[in-house]
Amino acid sequence: MPISPNLLDYTLEGMTGLFAEWGEKPFRARQVFRWIHQRGEGNFAAMTDLAQSLRDKLGSAAAILPPRVAGEHASADGTRKWLFATGTGNAVETVFIPEPRRGTLCVSSQVGCALKCGFCSTGRQGFNRNLTVAEMVGQLWWANRFLSGGVSRERAVTNVVLMGMGEPLLNFENVAAALEIMLDDAAYGLSRRRVTVSTSGIVPAMDRLRERCPVALAVSLHAPDDALRDVLVPINKKYPLRELLAACLRYLENAPRDFITFEYVMLEGVNDSPRHAKALLKRVAEVPCKFNLIPFNPFPGTDYRRSSPAAVGAFQEILAEGGRVATVRKTRGDDIDAACGQLAGQVEDRTRLRARRLAAVAP
Ligand code: SAH
Ligand code: SF4
Repeated sequence: MPISPNLLDYTLEGMTGLFAEWGEKPFRARQVFRWIHQRGEGNFAAMTDLAQSLRDKLGSAAAILPPRVAGEHASADGTRKWLFATGTGNAVETVFIPEPRRGTLCVSSQVGCALKCGFCSTGRQGFNRNLTVAEMVGQLWWANRFLSGGVSRERAVTNVVLMGMGEPLLNFENVAAALEIMLDDAAYGLSRRRVTVSTSGIVPAMDRLRERCPVALAVSLHAPDDALRDVLVPINKKYPLRELLAACLRYLENAPRDFITFEYVMLEGVNDSPRHAKALLKRVAEVPCKFNLIPFNPFPGTDYRRSSPAAVGAFQEILAEGGRVATVRKTRGDDIDAACGQLAGQVEDRTRLRARRLAAVAP
């Protein structure tokens, strides 16, 4: 039996094409697109300004299917975390962080991550698969609906960061389509400055993002030199700092903000000394940037430790003296393991699984 198209997978352009195949006019596609994303409607029968015949047709030929919520946690500080099932026992996590004047949703882009940064819980788990457009947009669709208490024009999420599980730029096509939907005025209407992609530095994909859908960019730097970055962020061996920083400069030619945010996880005794801060200043001298220092968030089985507040403060001060704005990321939701780098979901690592299967058939 053919599977009904999931409308959460479609950009407005895609949905217009789909409707054309059904003999429906473009403005009908736009109407349905608005119902789904602007109001969070998941039921065709409730789309009251559509002809009954179209509602019936959609009800039998299409679906609106976000990933299934498999768990929900609320932190004492108001942070919320959802676990979304992504099939075959796997799941990803999404975090909502309320602040006085904005609500930020941290969205996952992959089930696990293949890049294996040692300080990251997601990286420890290995990789299963890319998320679909519907699974990424579905995280936002669901969060807005839940936070506003049902179908509503109110949308609690004002900012999106692709900083959950996974490396967004290794799921390029789906991420780009999901971003287009997030930015579309007929959907969530988020400005490019309020949507941030965080990357460990996939250089060619940074160039593609600049061309296709430039949004705010955060780059996970974590080290001032290649020797240390090779260890902390292994993808650095493929795209070393010189190439990464050049890509940052190219990105800025077409970016909605005039600076790159460099994320820097503070690991005690590893990358947090005044010497590292000074080397960092030198290294990024050419790049308009701000720093976001992230105190390391521990998870079971890690040997890394969080830098002391004094070390973080001293590091921040050296950067400030060098003329760079550096903020320290507040740890939110750590009582529900929702802080940066703690997102684990449920990942069956396909790389390891394949190795186990091969071992099982070996003579
Ligand atoms: N793969 C992308 C986006 C997801 S990770 C990237 O690496 O940028 C989002 C941010 O959390 C990155 O800056 C990452 O380095 C950081 N992070 C990962 N593990 C962490 C941990 N245990 N404590 C604090 N930050 C962490
Ligand atoms: Fe992947 Fe980012 Fe974690 Fe590195 S820090 S393993 S790139 S999710």
